[in-house]
Amino acid sequence: MSADIGKKIDQLRKELREHNYNYYVLDNATISDFDFDILLTELQKLEDENPKYFDAHSPTQRVGGEVTKSFETVTHKSRMYSLDNSYSIEDLQDWEKRVQKILGVDQIEFTCELKYDGASINLSYEQGKLIKAVTRGDGFQGDDVTTNIKTIKSIPLVLSDLFFDAFEIRGEIILPLDGFNKMNEERVEAGEDPYRNPRNTASGSLKLQDSAEVAKRPLDCLLYHIVAERLPFGSHFESLNKARQVGFKVPEAIQVCENLEEVRSFIDHWDKARHDLPYETDGVVVKVNNLHQQDELGYTAKSPRWAIAYKFKAEQESTVLNKITYQVGRTGAITPVANLEPVLLAGTIVKRASLHNADQIEKFDIRIEDTVFVEKGGEIIPKVVGVDLSKRPKHSVPTKYIIHCPDCNTLLVRKEGDAKHYCLNEFGCPTQITGRIQHYISRKAMDIDGLGAETVDLLFKEKLIFNYADLYDLREEQIIPLERMAEKSAKNMIAGIAKSKEIPFEKVLFALGIRFVGETVAKKLARHYKSMDRIMNASFEDLTNVDEIGDRIAQSIVDFSNDLGNIQLIDRLKNYGVQLEVSAESQENQTNKLQGKVFVVSGVFTIMSRNELKKSIEDNGGKVSSSISKKTSYIIAGENMGPSKRTKAESLQIPLISEMEYIEMLK
Ligand code: AMP
Ligand code: ZN
Repeated sequence: MSADIGKKIDQLRKELREHNYNYYVLDNATISDFDFDILLTELQKLEDENPKYFDAHSPTQRVGGEVTKSFETVTHKSRMYSLDNSYSIEDLQDWEKRVQKILGVDQIEFTCELKYDGASINLSYEQGKLIKAVTRGDGFQGDDVTTNIKTIKSIPLVLSDLFFDAFEIRGEIILPLDGFNKMNEERVEAGEDPYRNPRNTASGSLKLQDSAEVAKRPLDCLLYHIVAERLPFGSHFESLNKARQVGFKVPEAIQVCENLEEVRSFIDHWDKARHDLPYETDGVVVKVNNLHQQDELGYTAKSPRWAIAYKFKAEQESTVLNKITYQVGRTGAITPVANLEPVLLAGTIVKRASLHNADQIEKFDIRIEDTVFVEKGGEIIPKVVGVDLSKRPKHSVPTKYIIHCPDCNTLLVRKEGDAKHYCLNEFGCPTQITGRIQHYISRKAMDIDGLGAETVDLLFKEKLIFNYADLYDLREEQIIPLERMAEKSAKNMIAGIAKSKEIPFEKVLFALGIRFVGETVAKKLARHYKSMDRIMNASFEDLTNVDEIGDRIAQSIVDFSNDLGNIQLIDRLKNYGVQLEVSAESQENQTNKLQGKVFVVSGVFTIMSRNELKKSIEDNGGKVSSSISKKTSYIIAGENMGPSKRTKAESLQIPLISEMEYIEMLK
């Protein structure tokens, strides 16, 4: 009996591993997410019931949960070097000459690979199993981040083939752009600052204490180098091909080049094509292909002599910094903004750029009237990356960061571990007050027609509103006398506000602007608790038990609910008739029929509108995604579905269904 269970467990693990490999390494799904989850749940159950079969390398171990308070320092068995840089073909020619001289040969074979922009990692395998994952650190010693690395699905925990008894493989942990942008959208919605770039976010992720948090991030790992005693391969290219065969994700964009001319073509090609890659690259790494020649060349104090990085030119311009202004967000976070002499950068005119925070200004010693370098990378907003000191005016003085809020003059504070300054005058700071009301009325929240951001500012200035509940007390005769207002606009506004009482609870919950509660989280909470009262009475523990609600969100909700001002606000909203619970009608319409299924809705429909269709999917427990991927379960195709979507759907073999077929599915 017990042996049977052991066999079953082994078999499930093997099956899950294969699906996982097909999906995350080959990008070629062989099972739906839904069915994958069923197998995983089955395995988890068997493992829970039979603890003697526990295995740290089981696919169930990928969801994380282990918390690391401090990461252990580990000395690398063999040092992790950095790379020499080159910026032109001439630089590469110089390098080739040096290599030729040391080796005493004229013709050298190279490989070209992309330079992946992330955080380097060293993975150790023994007997086909992942034993340890260590960051580069200073090259001699790094941090043991194995618990976090195990959650990255493209890294094999068990190899399909032994490869070698013991070896190390090095690669780069990256955050693909899609996932990065999605994480940022969610952050902005929740009133948080967006992450600056995928690279920092990827390396920051490795040091998160809660591995379950890491598991949620769409990290990936691209491998580029094997370290073992006496490799049985003649060339670097061959070794990477073998690594790919045993289950590692080695990108296809590797090319053997007979000479520098071919290297140049590779570079030229990718300098353009890199903009279509799903991840960021900042250059090409050129390596001597022959492993014996690599040995012979060896290392300098800092880098291998057998490799060199060629850096693509970043899109950068210089311009004059006229002024620094400070923005206050609706959560009180202060962002310094560079006001620039307009400059053309990567096809758009740039007048403003982010300066991020006080540290950044101090680090570069950025001063008014300086000529600064502005760069556009993967970030949403351009950034200032340095100062042209040769152009600094003689009379310039260092920038003094503000210590008071530019809006309400409150002394700013900086919390430990936070790079930003904050104005804590939540209920007295004008921009925070109007920011919250503007968020409340916005399209994705209460969607109030006839009321815009500027009118909110005006109403606040006229002392007619101080919070979103005050909106419902507004009367026409108060509004008509205001600047740029007339009877008609006043009527529209009041009607728009009244109509917002019909907005469903999940949107109201999002509109309240509770920190970290974005659209998706609000939907989750509304589905789970069904009313504001129940959310406000929920304990921290209770909240963290809800699917996808972590400590941070839970704490923020508890803080919100304990605030007397908020309790009064919610009470007032309730009295005005705002929806603070899930309506009986929508509760009736909610099922879990589509649980675990991901839909993409494309084209024009006849029976339901697009939005109705999306809502129906969510009401029935399904997910709506805007782009087609391996994770998509169905595409609901209407008329005029885009041809590129159709091709993508076909190539991924995702079923297309009609509106009618969808409705049938619900029955
Ligand atoms: P740098 O940090 O600028 O000195 O560049 C060296 C780093 O580039 C290495 O530590 C690797 O993490 C990274 N890298 C990215 N892609 C590759 C690649 N294809 N081959 C070697 N190193 C790479
Ligand atoms: Zn303030």
